[in-house]
Amino acid sequence: MKLSEMRELLATRGIQLTKSLGQNFLHDGNQLRRIIEAAELSKADKILEIGPGLGPLTELLLENAGEVLAIEKDARLVEFLRERFGHSKLKTQNLTFNLLHADALAFLKRERRDWNEWKLVANLPYSVASPILVELAQGARAPRKIVATLQLEVARRLMAGAGDKDYGVLTLLVQLDYAPADSFKIPKGCFFPEPDVDSACVVLDRRGTPLLPEHQRGIFVKIVKRAFSQRRKMMLKLLREDWPVEKLERAFAELKILVQERAEKLSLEQFVGLTQCLTE
Ligand code: SAH
Repeated sequence: MKLSEMRELLATRGIQLTKSLGQNFLHDGNQLRRIIEAAELSKADKILEIGPGLGPLTELLLENAGEVLAIEKDARLVEFLRERFGHSKLKTQNLTFNLLHADALAFLKRERRDWNEWKLVANLPYSVASPILVELAQGARAPRKIVATLQLEVARRLMAGAGDKDYGVLTLLVQLDYAPADSFKIPKGCFFPEPDVDSACVVLDRRGTPLLPEHQRGIFVKIVKRAFSQRRKMMLKLLREDWPVEKLERAFAELKILVQERAEKLSLEQFVGLTQCLTE
């Protein structure tokens, strides 16, 4: 969908875009193609799309995948999408398209579906991008691949490694289950209306073997959140809030972590090791 078509469509339907819903539509054909390529689609793929908007990405997903479930919060856009991707046409091509009018975050929390065989491919609403990823990207029910466009600042946090300035809670909560595979910047000018910030598309692959068993995940989250609760403080001191100091010192020694270390220097593997030591 070209920018001119997008503008005309919004004007004829009298749709005023809502900033709080993060309505910045991607109209750049090259970037849309890059996103689709990154998703490595086949007709066997089931795709979850959150925030389809006017459907520029949805159209390409339907061309390249076998099933698409799109969740859109804005009723005006849902109505438009229903007209645009009418069922009869899709049926003849053996495609399944489901469109839900819902708040995606509330839906994901309520339904707790198994997305294990699904891929998430979406240009996310930025205000809820991080909570949606955290909700979706955890444990055995998580999608096998995530190709998400979001704020550059959040993308940097998702791709960060130990010692980077963007490394933190979001990095670790997502990277526990996903290996960051790729990311590319998408300039503001590719969206209508132009957002205030630059964007990036991140590609995350679910790990083949989970780094921690299901019952230790809660401990991992607790350690990570506590360790980063005050970035400048020694981690050992912070963790003393939750664990006896002797146990912590033993764990640190076993994992060869310096007692004065701060959380931002610790690798994912070290956080995993710490979780294992502290649950024993
Ligand atoms: N994917 C489209 C639109 C991106 S804009 C494109 O690339 O052009 C973000 C979209 O998410 C908007 O359509 C907005 O209405 C929708 N949205 C915002 N908050 C949402 C929520 N909580 N759940 C589902 N959709 C939401």
